[in-house]
Amino acid sequence: MNDSHRRFLQTMMYNAIVDEKGARSLYRHCCEIHNTQHTPGHLDKFIDTINSQLQPLFMQIRKGTSEDTGDQFYALVNMAVTDVTRMSSGYADNELELFVKTMDLIVGSENGTASSTDILNSADTLTTKKLKKSETQHLLSRLVQDKWLNEKGGEYTLSTRCIIEMEPYISTMYQDQVKVCQICHSIAIQGQICENPMCGIKIHNPCVARYFKGRPEPQCPACNDFWPHEIPEI
Ligand SMILES: [Zn+2]
Ligand SMILES: [Zn+2]
Repeated sequence: MNDSHRRFLQTMMYNAIVDEKGARSLYRHCCEIHNTQHTPGHLDKFIDTINSQLQPLFMQIRKGTSEDTGDQFYALVNMAVTDVTRMSSGYADNELELFVKTMDLIVGSENGTASSTDILNSADTLTTKKLKKSETQHLLSRLVQDKWLNEKGGEYTLSTRCIIEMEPYISTMYQDQVKVCQICHSIAIQGQICENPMCGIKIHNPCVARYFKGRPEPQCPACNDFWPHEIPEI
């Protein structure tokens, strides 16, 4: 591991997550600054070198896909996170409890979202220490700012960072609820569901867009029933 690897890691520690394009240009930038060899197309190899050094620290730069756009991202994740309560310093116990309740709402919903109203209501059921309405609102904006949640028009979803980092936790804790995307085989929180009750497979929106592109009669890839949803354009 040389100085360009170290600079890349420092930037990842600061940003927590970068998209693939950003990671490529960061790789080039780090190599230019430290005058080390830059080989386009070798980003993953460069990251492997960093990951081998991170292993004893239970950290890893892991690749994942945005459920909104289908774009690839790299996130620095803590592999020691086996439950949310150790997710992050800087959050109090009751704040983490609310985050768990928010995840429960999001993962338990069909479309992978939770409204701010539902989250505010669940704040009344905290067992650790109650949060006032204003405190909950402030906490939600912090969770968005720290890239754990996304928010659009009062609806909250799990961020790409959250899904990359928490995937093992989500698969374990919500194994009866969470589905795996029929196309890319990663966990699917937001997506479309086959309406055939005997089937019920789920596909991420960007995977739907890619899979059904140019197919005039969209059919479920598992049961061949007509796919009744609007095909998103991404
Ligand atoms: Zn998918
Ligand atoms: Zn089906």
